[in-house]
Amino acid sequence: MYVKVRIDEEKCTGCKICIFACPDPNVLSYTEDKKISADDNRCKGCGLCVSICPKDALTIS
Ligand code: SF4
Ligand code: SF4
Repeated sequence: MYVKVRIDEEKCTGCKICIFACPDPNVLSYTEDKKISADDNRCKGCGLCVSICPKDALTIS
């Protein structure tokens, strides 16, 4: 299954909650410009990050 994680940078505040929520510590990371980036190849598509983001900034497809 190929999963694409999309982060809406307009909505994201960089709170990092999604990083701690993800069961795999290697999928989501915090970038130098205080945003979130995702390694789509590692994402399992569980949806935890999407449901926990307080800003609705994440979508998976
Ligand atoms: S939980 Fe949402 S707002 Fe917080 S860092 Fe992740 S994507 Fe951004
Ligand atoms: S969908 Fe699940 S595995 Fe993928 S980034 Fe979000 S929490 Fe991590």
